[in-house]
Amino acid sequence: MTRRQKKKWIKEIARQQIERLFELAEMVSRTRPLLSDRYIHLAKRIGMRNRVRIPTHLKRRMCKHCGKYLIPGRTCRVRLNGTCVVVTCLACDKQTRYPYHRRQNPSNDRIKHQNRTP
Ligand SMILES: [Zn+2]
Repeated sequence: MTRRQKKKWIKEIARQQIERLFELAEMVSRTRPLLSDRYIHLAKRIGMRNRVRIPTHLKRRMCKHCGKYLIPGRTCRVRLNGTCVVVTCLACDKQTRYPYHRRQNPSNDRIKHQNRTP
């Protein structure tokens, strides 16, 4: 049994733990923000130790610079600048950008629409 096979179920548990920690962070974020930061930190460490990726939707809830739990409108600012989403952490003032998908070729769409109408 190779190492990778042996660790498969361990990775599954790690994945569940990460999701649970993010749930907990969400639950206590209003009352105890420092505790939610701690949960995020633990989730990140579990992910690194077991080489499990943190799912994208959860990863975007944490600041990759200072590890703060991000709540749009409270601990971070979210803006669009045409090509990407810019998330500014209000704790460390650093920005994270990620692209959002715009329609690749809008002219193709117009041609399709014209063909459809008689
Ligand atoms: Zn930050």
